[in-house]
Amino acid sequence: MDFRLSEEQALFQRSVREFVDREVAPHAATLDATTTFPHETLRKLGDLGLTGLGIPPEYGGSGGDNIMVAIAIEELARGCAATSTVYAVTLSLCTHVIWTFGNEDQKRRYVPALSRAEKLGCYGLTEPEAGSDAASLKTRARRNGDYYFISGTKQFISNGDQADTMILFATLDPSLRSRGITAFIAETRQPGYHVLKVENKLGIRGSSTAAIALENLEVPLTNRLGDEGEGFKIAMQVLDWSRIGIAAQAVGIAQAALEAAVSYARQRHQFGRPIAEHQAIQFLIADMRTRIEAARLLTYWAADLHDRGIRHTAETSMAKLFASEMCEWVTSKALQIHGGYGYLKDFPVERYYRDARITQIYEGTSEVQRMVIARETLGRRSGS
Ligand SMILES: Cc1cc2nc3c(=O)[nH]c(=O)nc-3n(C[C@H](O)[C@H](O)[C@H](O)COP(=O)(O)OP(=O)(O)OC[C@H]3O[C@@H](n4cnc5c(N)ncnc54)[C@H](O)[C@@H]3O)c2cc1C
Repeated sequence: MDFRLSEEQALFQRSVREFVDREVAPHAATLDATTTFPHETLRKLGDLGLTGLGIPPEYGGSGGDNIMVAIAIEELARGCAATSTVYAVTLSLCTHVIWTFGNEDQKRRYVPALSRAEKLGCYGLTEPEAGSDAASLKTRARRNGDYYFISGTKQFISNGDQADTMILFATLDPSLRSRGITAFIAETRQPGYHVLKVENKLGIRGSSTAAIALENLEVPLTNRLGDEGEGFKIAMQVLDWSRIGIAAQAVGIAQAALEAAVSYARQRHQFGRPIAEHQAIQFLIADMRTRIEAARLLTYWAADLHDRGIRHTAETSMAKLFASEMCEWVTSKALQIHGGYGYLKDFPVERYYRDARITQIYEGTSEVQRMVIARETLGRRSGS
């Protein structure tokens, strides 16, 4: 057992951190204030090969393992949580989905452009009436010859108004629940794809979250991922790895909050000395660091199991649950250490606090993670 990063992973972490400190973090406050989508940064991430992590070079990628994906998301989130969302969605929820479940033709047609950030991806699972209960989705796919025609509404789609390619889930027969759901690679620059609304959010404001209407969106048979009825299984398998990215994002946001709190506690004086010399502040810093390290280890553990091909459903959910709840706690304490100044837009901690909240909601709420962990621990019959 070795808890250290390999030499290659450590070098990778340093180079991503330097890039983020130089090119990403300085823009985070502006993206947040102006709700600007980070197109420019994505292009740079593409040039660096980060949008092709986990994909072999012959398909436009840069290789690497899932620990490196977690490191990239963590470091990006440390600089700008919104940018890390945009990145994680296109890589983990689109490129890696086609790479894992696509046939050779689909991989050749879609993966290279996504890996190089020439195209952007999104993931269309949630609907207005189907959130935690994704199996109840109503978007209909009807087959006619060599095409499917897809109609329905998708809700809360990250990158939904910006993406070129959507991993789209629709049902051939809602009465079949999960067994009717099928996955497709849909192209968004088509007449049947309409952006209804871009949401105004509490945090990760530089990322976009859109409601999408699909009106007889044409998807060729050659763009079906897997067989008819296999979509729900695909959606759940994807979440098994993509939730590791949300855990990594939570660790990154919390790390940024800890660093801000340490720096502020050293320079802020009250009662004649730096507040860092008051034991109450020291204990908070100690607890913050301890919880961050625990979450990081859970996250890397789940990523490592994924790399080794070992089943990791419970480990992923534990990492996501613990890291996201830790993140809210740590960012709240970092804000507290800043006193009244923490409540102002002049300091980044209020943004960290707002950005933290989403990690307990998307890709399965904390309640859903607890349901998964309980089911994996007690056995299927204990759940629903
Ligand atoms: C900013 C943002 C980005 C997102 N990006 C995407 C995306 O890119 N693609 C996508 O498909 N989706 C996306 N989502 C959707 C997200 O995954 C859902 O919001 C989430 O799964 C919860 O669904 P819901 O909002 O419908 O809440 P609901 O399912 O209605 O849940 C409401 C509350 O009830 C609780 N609850 C529900 N069922 C149970 C139960 N059985 N037991 C106990 N408690 C329960 C929930 O935990 C929650 O607290 C995004 C959401 C947001 C806010």
